[in-house]
Amino acid sequence: MKEIRHIIISDPHDCCGCTACASVCPRGSINMKENAEGFLYPSVDENTCIECGLCVKVCPVITQLPARRPLDVYAMKHPDQTVRDSSASGGAFPLLASAVIAMGGRVFGSRFDKDMEAVHDSASTPEEVRAFTGSKYLQSRMEDCYGRVRAALREGIPVLFTGTPCQVAGLNRFLNRGANPDAAGNGTGKSFLDKLVTADLICHGVPSPGVWRQYLAEEKEVLRKQGYRDVKIEEVRFRDKEEGHAGWKGYRFKIFFSAKDPSGTPCRPVLSEAGKAENLFIRGFLADFYSRPSCYRCPAREFRSGSDLTIGDFWGIGDLRPEYDDDRGVSAILVNTEKGRNLLAALATPASSSAPSASSVLSASSVPSASSATSRQESNSSGSSESSGRSVLPDGADSTHHRDCADMLQMTLEDVLRRNRCLLTSVDETPGRAAFFQTFTALPDSNHTTQPDSDCPILPDSNCHIYRDSDSHIPPDSSRPSPAAYWVHDTIRSLLG
Ligand SMILES: Cc1cc2nc3c(=O)[nH]c(=O)nc-3n(C[C@H](O)[C@H](O)[C@H](O)COP(=O)(O)OP(=O)(O)OC[C@H]3O[C@@H](n4cnc5c(N)ncnc54)[C@H](O)[C@@H]3O)c2cc1C
Ligand code: SF4
Ligand code: SF4
Ligand code: SF4
Repeated sequence: MKEIRHIIISDPHDCCGCTACASVCPRGSINMKENAEGFLYPSVDENTCIECGLCVKVCPVITQLPARRPLDVYAMKHPDQTVRDSSASGGAFPLLASAVIAMGGRVFGSRFDKDMEAVHDSASTPEEVRAFTGSKYLQSRMEDCYGRVRAALREGIPVLFTGTPCQVAGLNRFLNRGANPDAAGNGTGKSFLDKLVTADLICHGVPSPGVWRQYLAEEKEVLRKQGYRDVKIEEVRFRDKEEGHAGWKGYRFKIFFSAKDPSGTPCRPVLSEAGKAENLFIRGFLADFYSRPSCYRCPAREFRSGSDLTIGDFWGIGDLRPEYDDDRGVSAILVNTEKGRNLLAALATPASSSAPSASSVLSASSVPSASSATSRQESNSSGSSESSGRSVLPDGADSTHHRDCADMLQMTLEDVLRRNRCLLTSVDETPGRAAFFQTFTALPDSNHTTQPDSDCPILPDSNCHIYRDSDSHIPPDSSRPSPAAYWVHDTIRSLLG
C-alpha cells in the first residue's frame, strides 16, 4: 500500500488548528475548513499534493516541543492606569507591544473582525495595536499570519507575536520548517529569527467560533423579538472593568448594539452581565462545554510552545500580596528564555539606567547562546519555591505611578500555578461537552439558524425555539414578548443545571 505523507486528521484531538501545515505547504494544497463543531481543520487537496511531507514535519501536535520551566516569574502592572483598565489583566501585552512598535517593529495579535469573530492580524502603530487588547474567548483564526511573520523577519523588521501556546508552537515549527529548537526554545541557527520575540497566554482552552456565532445570533434575536430593527453588534468586551469600577475579578461581559427601537428611533442597547456569574457563554466556556478537542490534550502544556514569555492573570495575587492588588488587573509574566528576560529587564528599568535598551535586546548580537539559557533553566527547575517578593524597580522608585518602567514584583512559578493548573496539565474531557455538541450539531444547517417552533403559544410563526425565562440584562421594555431562548443559550443553561 502507498504510504501517505500528507497530514490526515483521524482524531480531532490531534489538531489544534494552528495552520502551520497549511502555511508551509509549497503547493497551497491545504485549506482550513470549519467542521460541524465550528473549529477549523486542514483539508488536503490530493490532486495537487506532491507528498513532500512538510506538513507532517511542522505539525506541533505530531512533534511536540520539549517541556520547560520558566526562568523567572513576575507579578506586573502597566504603569499607565488607562492602558491597564482597557486590558484584560495587568497590561503586560501593551507594555511589550509598545516597546516593539517604538523600535519600528510589527506586533501580531488577535482582533475582532466585522462579524465579531477573532482573527489574527498585524499592527505597526499604537492605534492598530489597541484592537488586540482584551481577551477574546474563542479561537482566533490565524489565516496567513505565519507567512507574514516570516516575511517581516526576512526584511529585518522586529516582530512580537502573541497568541495561545499552540499558536506560538505552530509558528516556531513553521519558521524552523520542522527542525527542532533546543530546550530553551531557541531556534535552529536561522539568524532572521533573532528579531522575533513571542509571548503566549496562559491558556484555559479556546471555545468554538461556531458556537460563538450562534450565541451572537441568538442575542440579536432577543432584541428583534422585542421589536428592535436593524440590530447590529458594534462592540464586544469579554472582560470589561468598567473604567476600573467593576474591577478585574468581578469583570463584566458586554455587548454594545446599534438598532432602531420599536418606534423607529436609533438607539444603542447594551447587554451587560457579570461574566463568571451570569453570562451563559462565559459560564459554558469555563465549564469546558465547547473548547476545542485538542485543549483536552494540549500539545503546548508545560511551556512547550517555545515562547520567550508567557502572560496571564495573576489570580490569587491578593492572597499573596494584598497591598499590590487594587482589583484593576495584575498580570503574571513568566520568562522562558534569555531573550524574554533581556526584553523584560529593559522594560522594567528606567531609561536613565545602564540596562540595555529594548531595541538592543532584539538585535542579533544580544541574543544569548542556547547553552546559557539551558543551564539556567536546569538550575531553575530544581530550584527553590521561595518567593523573594523583590521589586525590580530601583529603590525609591514610585512603584504605583512610575510611567517610565513596568511595575513588577518577583514571584515564583508555584504562586502562579495555584490558580492555573492548565499550564502543566491537560484538562479531562468534561462529560458536558458531548451533551452540548449533541444538541449543537443537530442544528439543521451550517449557519446554525434558529428553528421554527410551531408549538410556541406566543409567537407561533416566529423562529422562537423555546421560552427564555430570564432576560433581565436587556433594557426594560414592557412591550417585549417574553419567549426568545434558542439552541446555545438553552443548552448551556440546561447543562449548568
Ligand atoms: C482563550 C483564552 C484563554 C485564557 N485563559 C487564561 C487562563 O486560564 N488563565 C490566565 O491566567 N489567563 C488566561 N488567559 C489570558 C488572559 O485572559 C489575558 O489575555 C492575558 O493575561 C493578557 O492580558 P494583558 O492585560 O497582558 O493584555 P491585553 O491588553 O488584554 O491583550 C490581550 C492579548 O491576548 C491576545 N489575545 C486575545 N484574544 C486571543 C485569542 N482568542 N487567541 C489568541 N490570542 C488572543 C492578544 O493578541 C493580546 O496579545 C486567556 C486568554 C485567552 C484569549
Ligand atoms: S505533503 Fe507537501 S504538498 Fe502535500 S499537503 Fe503536505 S506540504 Fe502540501
Ligand atoms: S495542529 Fe496545526 S499543523 Fe498540525 S494538523 Fe492541525 S493545523 Fe496542521
Ligand atoms: S489549551 Fe492548548 S490546544 Fe487549547 S488553545 Fe490553549 S494552547 Fe491551544
